[in-house]
Amino acid sequence: MRAILIGPPGAGKGTQAKVICERYGIPQISTGDMLRAHKAKGTELGLKAAEFMSKGLLVPDQVVIDMVEERLKQPDAQKGYLFDGFPRTVAQAESLDGSLSRLGTKLDGVVLIEVADDLLVERVCGRRTDRRSGQIFHLKYNPPPPDADLEQRADDREETVRDRLRVYHDQTAPLIPYYEGRGLLRRVDGVGELAAVTERVLNALSRE
Ligand code: AMP
Repeated sequence: MRAILIGPPGAGKGTQAKVICERYGIPQISTGDMLRAHKAKGTELGLKAAEFMSKGLLVPDQVVIDMVEERLKQPDAQKGYLFDGFPRTVAQAESLDGSLSRLGTKLDGVVLIEVADDLLVERVCGRRTDRRSGQIFHLKYNPPPPDADLEQRADDREETVRDRLRVYHDQTAPLIPYYEGRGLLRRVDGVGELAAVTERVLNALSRE
């Protein structure tokens, strides 16, 4: 399985990707998680990326493309993977197409998780991650256990979320016609119980 999850911030890509990767036994490739790991380690790449991330802007294409090319060479990525948060621009998608054809592989599907904008701000602002497990919760919709060690992502505050939504519509939404034109896009309603959305994503991925 080689697939992509796309959707606006707060659509549930990260949460769904974790469940789906476990079911398929494939790695989740989240460029957001990779960039946050660089930032936490204080690498040069991490420090450069943080300037863009804190403003809700996209990190320059080449930085992300190089990072993904390296990731695709790792042994665990040879039997499949699920991208979450990559590609985010048409330039990244074109570069991925080039990498895949050099590797002699192709994508099985691209799932778009759709959620209306006005729901997204509330979803993202209530989101918290457990530092220990990496599990994602929502203070209202998916409450964490009392002993969770919670943190809020620096870019999950309201003003930044609105900027990220604008960036999604301007720079990432053009991927919808891009993958639709290649016969790869499957749309899934991202509103509802977490498990119900997982079922929809799994169905979309198993569709020919
Ligand atoms: P995410 O965790 O996917 O919401 O990503 C958090 C932030 O990391 C984004 O708002 C961007 O600043 C940056 N980022 C993650 N993935 C990409 C990507 N594919 N291209 C550019 N920037 C990215």
